[in-house]
Amino acid sequence: MTSSDSEQKISAELKQLSLMRQQLLERKKIQCIFQELRNRAEFGQAEGAASNQHEIDSIDDKLKQLTERKAELQKSHDNILHAKDKKEDSLTSSQMTVPVAPVPASNMIYIEAPPSIPAPTVILDLENFPPCPCRTQCPACEQFIVTETFTSVSSLTWLVCFMIALTGCAAGCCLIPFCIDTFKSTTHKCPRCRTSIITIKKL
Ligand SMILES: [Zn+2]
Repeated sequence: MTSSDSEQKISAELKQLSLMRQQLLERKKIQCIFQELRNRAEFGQAEGAASNQHEIDSIDDKLKQLTERKAELQKSHDNILHAKDKKEDSLTSSQMTVPVAPVPASNMIYIEAPPSIPAPTVILDLENFPPCPCRTQCPACEQFIVTETFTSVSSLTWLVCFMIALTGCAAGCCLIPFCIDTFKSTTHKCPRCRTSIITIKKL
């Protein structure tokens, strides 16, 4: 028996083991649910509960055995791989002139990494425009553009101005809202055709 044969055998057995493990775990889950239900119902069926517990214990035992076997197999598998590596090393060192062709890995799939730069978001819904320049499609010239923004005095600006004046700040403090963009309306314009796309009004 060659090393690759035994390797294949081991990997097949490992696969089978993991399958069995999964099945056992599912069975255990079901048994645990049964037990829980029985406990809740309090039927007093001591016999059933005992057999249930026995079943769970046996599953646990089997799981333990499986884990041990798996560890064993894994170890031998690693050993084989190690031996193979060594052999290849010695082979390459002894036959330096003959290049060793790489083994074609047919079941290996290479996936290209996604671009690290996120795709720019294009806002097409006029209602959701932020108060800063954003990417959109101009409804007039239908070009994809980054809007230009302009602020203008809105009702909110005046309201805040009057409120400040009412609190008694007469030294020009009431003019502050005229300098803050948060209190002003924002107009988005297309830089190509100069159409104003939308005005976000405050109040
Ligand atoms: Zn335009």
